[in-house]
Amino acid sequence: MQIPVLAYHKIDQPTSDIKLRGAFTSPKNFTKQMLYLKKQNFVFYTASELIDFYRENGAFPAKAITVTFDDGWKDNYTNAFPILRDLQIKATIFLVPSCIGQTTAKIVGDGESKREHLALMDIRVMSDYGIEFGSHTLNHKLLHQISPSEIEFEVSESKKEIENLLQKSCRVFAYPAGFFTETAQAAVKDAGYIAAFSTVYGENETVNLYALNRVEILRRNRFLFQFARTIKPLQTKNV
Ligand SMILES: [Zn+2]
Repeated sequence: MQIPVLAYHKIDQPTSDIKLRGAFTSPKNFTKQMLYLKKQNFVFYTASELIDFYRENGAFPAKAITVTFDDGWKDNYTNAFPILRDLQIKATIFLVPSCIGQTTAKIVGDGESKREHLALMDIRVMSDYGIEFGSHTLNHKLLHQISPSEIEFEVSESKKEIENLLQKSCRVFAYPAGFFTETAQAAVKDAGYIAAFSTVYGENETVNLYALNRVEILRRNRFLFQFARTIKPLQTKNV
């Protein structure tokens, strides 16, 4: 069973220092992909809306799709947001609160230069439009590598910070690099999130709301036929 949620990272052209270009989707290709989804009559939900529907009905809505972005890069505002707004597409961005307003090397690959994150104003503008903001931990810590108390801190403090910044509840979570453990799942649930997303684990037989796999849209999807093939299982199989 595939969960109808797409995971993007950077909507930008990779610079010359980038070794792993997989997480970059060019603005042009992103536009084509969003237009394709519209043409296929997908209905866009924020992550919370999708999960609320699932919790009420025990199934995902027909033709549902949720577009998500991890890490909170500035390009989500400068490159992705104008496209989302033009096409009236809702989306969800998973933030790392300690990176807001910063240009840092905290999340970039080894040997890559610093990269700009969303500023608070960018986040507020997008939040007013209807983009949802979830948590991606306070410091982008890989949860399978840290202690239970650190997990608890990363998971709950990030939620509080996002809620303070936006004065809205922060209801969804994405595991950094997709890694999680049973302890991490329990911590996310205890902190009050309604769901948590991964990217690294395959299809499950049952839906575990704290271990939802997403379909990563990577550079290998840069041709529309490849994107269409990646999306196809999401169209036909509703839970
Ligand atoms: Zn990340």
